[in-house]
Amino acid sequence: MTTVLAIETSCDETAAAVATGDETGPGSWAIRSSVIASQVDIHREWGGVVPELASRQHLRDLCGVAERALGDGGVDWGDLDAIAVTQGPGLVGSLLVGVAFAKSLALALGRPLVPVHHLAGHIESLFLCRPDLPLPAVVLVVSGGHTNLYHLPEAGRYELVGRTRDDAAGEAFDKVAKLLGLTYPGGPVIDRIARGGDERAIRFPVARMTHDDRVAGPATVNPPGFPRRGDGRMDFSFSGLKTAVARHLQRRRAEDPGPMSESELADICASFQRAVIDALLDRTFEAVRRFGASGLGIAGGVSANSRLRELAGERGEKKGLPVVLPTLHLSTDNAAMIAAAGLRQISAGVTARLDLNADPALPLAAAGGTPRRPASGEGAGGSCAPPGGGVVTGRVTTTRPDPGGA
Ligand code: ADP
Ligand code: MG
Repeated sequence: MTTVLAIETSCDETAAAVATGDETGPGSWAIRSSVIASQVDIHREWGGVVPELASRQHLRDLCGVAERALGDGGVDWGDLDAIAVTQGPGLVGSLLVGVAFAKSLALALGRPLVPVHHLAGHIESLFLCRPDLPLPAVVLVVSGGHTNLYHLPEAGRYELVGRTRDDAAGEAFDKVAKLLGLTYPGGPVIDRIARGGDERAIRFPVARMTHDDRVAGPATVNPPGFPRRGDGRMDFSFSGLKTAVARHLQRRRAEDPGPMSESELADICASFQRAVIDALLDRTFEAVRRFGASGLGIAGGVSANSRLRELAGERGEKKGLPVVLPTLHLSTDNAAMIAAAGLRQISAGVTARLDLNADPALPLAAAGGTPRRPASGEGAGGSCAPPGGGVVTGRVTTTRPDPGGA
């Protein structure tokens, strides 16, 4: 049994988790602790994440968060067998804090360093909730920074088959919330207000991207049986939807400069939210059909959306398809998912050298490190000097995530 400490600092959550598992895979994975210090209160007044503030806050919180994760998990520094860390993608300053911390720890403890791709973490969070998620599967990772559609032909293999050409869905939630004068992050606020609205009140258009991107070129793979370039690709686009909401508000204010009623605001939120969800689910279920997938997962911050969870479940039920969504704790950024992806890397024999660097644009297929099996006992017996004395100033949630998903 391997005990891993995982560190996640890619954006505005400082997170650490302790997990155990063996080479038999997700069925053996157990989260012993998961601690998140959220910086959301710090960034809210700026209306979004300020990278420099984020990295400084990670620096303040990380030691305390890691110590708390160890304490909650009932393990000591010497009990750790490996240190997993998010190598990328994310904000480079933020990533560097986590990577430097993890490298120091790996060196001090004499334990292997395990590089993890942030999105692999989101994908593996699904297996924490449902170890027997049927494969092949289609997984939608939808967050503030990403809207990516993956085909998982087998465990640990992720093929990108669709992505957003512009804004991520979570970014659209955040930007539309800003247009409506709501607080950051916009997703949870819109989710709450939309419950009181009519989602059919306004027809907001959503683009369906089926052609190649002339600027960036195709970034997705076309596995066998998948449409060739320019032939029914499954990309997303949300910037037009954001503009449609802005135009609607402009028109509305020109006609009636008075304040908006609660029900009007709720209708706009509900209609916008439904447009996003339909775009996400239409393409995701289309991918399920094309790949003949036996399972579907939806992960990332936006998967916390209550209406998305409801509608995804309904659609899956109609098709007799198992749909897995992470628990709320595992939806937004956390280190338990990084521990899971780290355990997957460890079983594949992937570790990194101590010159590992943070990579803000790390491609998923290339998640760093060199596949090698550490020799048994390698590095054992190093001093267990803890980073000691950490004081956590971010808002902390600590959970032992309830497996079982949504
Ligand atoms: P990132 O890795 O991109 O920082 P996270 O995985 O932490 O993102 O997700 C944060 C994003 O999720 C934000 O854009 C936020 O608005 C969105 N989000 C969080 N909760 C909800 C919700 N209930 N409904 C819609 N979006 C949500
Ligand atoms: Mg994320």
